[in-house]
Amino acid sequence: MSISIENMTKSFGGTPVLRGIDLTVESGELVALLGPSGSGKTTLLKIIAGLEWPDAGALDVHGTDWLRLAAQDRRIGFVFQHYALFPHMSVRDNIAFGLSVRPRATRPPKAQIAAKVDELLQFLQITHLGERYPVQLSGGQRQRVALGRALAIEPSILLLDEPFGALDAAVRRDLRAWLRDVHDQTGSTTIFVTHDQEEAFELADRVVVMGDGRIEQIGNADQIHDHPASPFVARFMGATV
Ligand code: ADP
Repeated sequence: MSISIENMTKSFGGTPVLRGIDLTVESGELVALLGPSGSGKTTLLKIIAGLEWPDAGALDVHGTDWLRLAAQDRRIGFVFQHYALFPHMSVRDNIAFGLSVRPRATRPPKAQIAAKVDELLQFLQITHLGERYPVQLSGGQRQRVALGRALAIEPSILLLDEPFGALDAAVRRDLRAWLRDVHDQTGSTTIFVTHDQEEAFELADRVVVMGDGRIEQIGNADQIHDHPASPFVARFMGATV
């Protein structure tokens, strides 16, 4: 699903957080939103998910005006930094959650949900973890499960907000390669928020550099490194290398 955002603005209590965002993401693309803390990355993601509302601007997904769709109708897969797994549910039940809570009319039969969970456990290389509880998992394993739960609903768009932010460097590197593989196989349109340059450039097809509610530059590693579009980008790239 392609995403088109036009002239989007958002303020909180009179303070502008998004100052006119124009962005197009192609169907199947993996785009990173990269920028310092407070630059508006999460707010943009939440607006796409339907968890926040913009003050102005357009959001079109594959020809549909998404601002008119309720959050539950947007079929978004969302993975947050802080594991939002249910502690009292097994890995299997966590992954099945989005399907099991559907209204009866659209809920798949139990056997179909179980088959879907099996398929995802295998696809995400966590078959051996199905019966465990979140407390028995490492941080990296939990994020694999969180992604499984997001994918179970067959999302039209996958949104990842600093999903590896709380993990150590070696685990982050492993998960990056793994996520890239998963993305290449599912082909889902994915937006990934990070403040980590290495992560953004290694994972994404295109990197969107944000600063203070604006898009400062969009490009690949070479374009942004070699030709920073503004003093802000040059400083940001230099500061966090
Ligand atoms: P980032 O993801 O780049 O760190 P955010 O989108 O989370 O940035 O936040 C951008 C700014 O908006 C920050 O200054 C933050 O404090 C503010 N902000 C975010 N959400 C809210 C909210 N619900 N109410 C008030 N201010 C908010």
